[in-house]
Amino acid sequence: MESLIACHECDLIHRVRPLPKKGVASCIRCGSVLYRHKPDTLERTLSLSLAGLILFLLANWFPFLALKMGSQVHQTNLITGIKILYTQGMQPVAILVFITTILAPLAQLLGMLYVLLPLRHRRIPPKFAPVFRFVHSVQPWSMMEVFMVGILVSVVKLAKMAQIVPGIAIFSFFALILVLAAATVALDPHEIWERWEKLR
Ligand SMILES: [Zn+2]
Repeated sequence: MESLIACHECDLIHRVRPLPKKGVASCIRCGSVLYRHKPDTLERTLSLSLAGLILFLLANWFPFLALKMGSQVHQTNLITGIKILYTQGMQPVAILVFITTILAPLAQLLGMLYVLLPLRHRRIPPKFAPVFRFVHSVQPWSMMEVFMVGILVSVVKLAKMAQIVPGIAIFSFFALILVLAAATVALDPHEIWERWEKLR
């Protein structure tokens, strides 16, 4: 069956042709990118998602920051920080931070693993299509980098008042931002859908 693709920008329909290594297909009308050749998309996205899940667990398990004031040491991790926001009357902010830094990245990672792991072994998991669509729709909600900027700003402000010791979680969190971005870049939804169709 011949595969067709519509331009995301101007909706012009094109025939899908195999691309050379690192090749890019662009729209003949508006010039926007239609699709690009992403080598080993399944394996690479899968391994990046696995690495992401490990980093996610580290980022949530270990201390994020420690504040030293005199002999007092305050340690926080990601979830206790959100709890403090919640109990101090900033419920909407707490919920937003929880969704964008914990729930959305976790849903994205688990969704990708759920879809890609069986596909790697030529199996289709139940509810493949809705889960894979969900992974796409949840992606914009994952905004860990915004949170990271917020943390950096407050660290700079607090540095005058207390000694700040970064924890394992903050490094894991930073690595997770990069790994999730790399997983998103490595993923070629078109090829994943094609594999699914062949197995069906
Ligand atoms: Zn176009």
